Amino acid sequence: MSDSSTPLCPNYLDGKWVTPSGKETSNVYNPSRGSVIAGVPMCGKVEVDAVVASALKAFPDWGDTPPNERAQVLFRAKIMLEDAFDELCLGIATEHGKTLSEARGDLRRGIEVVEYACGVPTLLMGESLENIARGIDCHTDRHPLGVVAGICPFNFPALVPMWMWPLAIACGNTFVLKPSEKVPLTMQRVVAILEKAGLPPGVMNIVHGGRECVDAILEHPDVKAISFVGSTPVAREIHRKGTLNGKRVQAAGGAKNFIILMPDADIDRTVEAVKDGAFGCAGERCMAGSTAVAVGEAGERLLPALADLVSSMKTGTTDTVDSQPDMGAVISAEHRSKVAGIIDAGERAGAKVLSDGRPVKVNEAPEGFFLGPTLIDHVEESNPIMETEVFGPVLAVLRAKTLDEAIEKANRQAFGNGAAIFTNSGKAAREFRRKVSAGMVGINVGVPAPLAYFPFTGWNDSFFGDLHIQGKEGVEFYTQRKTTTTRWFGFGDGEIWAK
Ligand code: NAD
Repeated sequence: MSDSSTPLCPNYLDGKWVTPSGKETSNVYNPSRGSVIAGVPMCGKVEVDAVVASALKAFPDWGDTPPNERAQVLFRAKIMLEDAFDELCLGIATEHGKTLSEARGDLRRGIEVVEYACGVPTLLMGESLENIARGIDCHTDRHPLGVVAGICPFNFPALVPMWMWPLAIACGNTFVLKPSEKVPLTMQRVVAILEKAGLPPGVMNIVHGGRECVDAILEHPDVKAISFVGSTPVAREIHRKGTLNGKRVQAAGGAKNFIILMPDADIDRTVEAVKDGAFGCAGERCMAGSTAVAVGEAGERLLPALADLVSSMKTGTTDTVDSQPDMGAVISAEHRSKVAGIIDAGERAGAKVLSDGRPVKVNEAPEGFFLGPTLIDHVEESNPIMETEVFGPVLAVLRAKTLDEAIEKANRQAFGNGAAIFTNSGKAAREFRRKVSAGMVGINVGVPAPLAYFPFTGWNDSFFGDLHIQGKEGVEFYTQRKTTTTRWFGFGDGEIWAK
């Protein structure tokens, strides 16, 4: 519970900010300091009904607005987002704990989706074929769905919501956003910018909360589609309940991304990329390279350099522009304890800690949620670290004798978001790319996250649904096709002049 001096995040509907009264609240922290910076009302059916009503009212006019006019609002928003870029990034770093440079990546990737959505007149173009039979033509075009909703995780306060709303509204839908209750502030600022850019009231709406709020969205008959990004158990459940309720659902879940280190990999560039992939955003990324498999001599060749690099990383506060560390805090005190507990269990099971983040303290911020980067070697598949998505600054290293054995290990786990190989062999890279059971593959690229114009193609337990987020699949998800078959019998009133 936040106290009465903490600002409470309002919902946004009908173009107005509305603070619901009498709701339970949840704290928003600055993870660098461990201090409460805001409160979030834990809304339920009443508030969800109100935001969906706002979106429903706005839909007929917005859906009928020509795509180029919708794109012009996004063009203006893009320019205003650039103007506010530095301020927004500091806000992201403050509410999430990631470094400023990571916050810049978070927002930059999100703005790229806005840029992609600005091309919506072209993206919405249909197909046609004349004379499918004598005198008969056929064409198919895309129509918006109506009210669509997005439910977001904590780890990308800008990017993940921006995977959703720019394309959804560009396609003519109206949108209900349920941000993560842990990082609600960035989207509040972004939506205020959308309003200034001329987005009509009701096109974009925000409702805050947790499970009760999400359940009300899942059960609302006027919500036509749901984009979800979060952990696998919740993603699976959202997909199940949403589709049972007749909604279109894309639900992206958790991950355990494998990085295969071949003996011929370039040492310096590989260890730098592996370090960034594992510890960027303190490992709180669905594309984090959290599990490496060293093949043959790769362990002896690469791990000493990697351990040196990891040990030299500076962990610290990220909420001021002046001094930025290599890595920030994790999202909460509970999450820090959970991840430290997983390292303890991994070590007890026989793995060897090469660089230990557990004792790391940040003197100027003793209350911050800090856990330093941890490198842990000789992890067996039976180790407790392998049972779960750690989602923290931990890189587990397994060993394998051959590439095939490494790929088998990668494919035995349930997820399927990203996988990468570091090698100088085109043949090894090709084998890996073809055999690994993951939807996004990196070849000498540690975090193979696709940009806005490609879909984010998670597989297995990392994605539930048919159409992925972003790119053309995103356009497909937020539209429905209408196919029209046309025949004209005569010239009608023009009969006379036609003769
Ligand atoms: P989370 O699953 O705890 O929460 C995600 C959202 O679901 C939040 O808005 C939360 O309020 C809501 N929620 C939580 N529990 C719920 C429940 N029981 N019923 C209904 N709604 C519920 O995830 P998180 O901790 O915020 O985010 C981290 C997770 O997100 C990681 O697993 C990460 O891999 C995943 N993630 C995946 C991708 C991807 O593209 N696959 C991208 C980013 C993050």
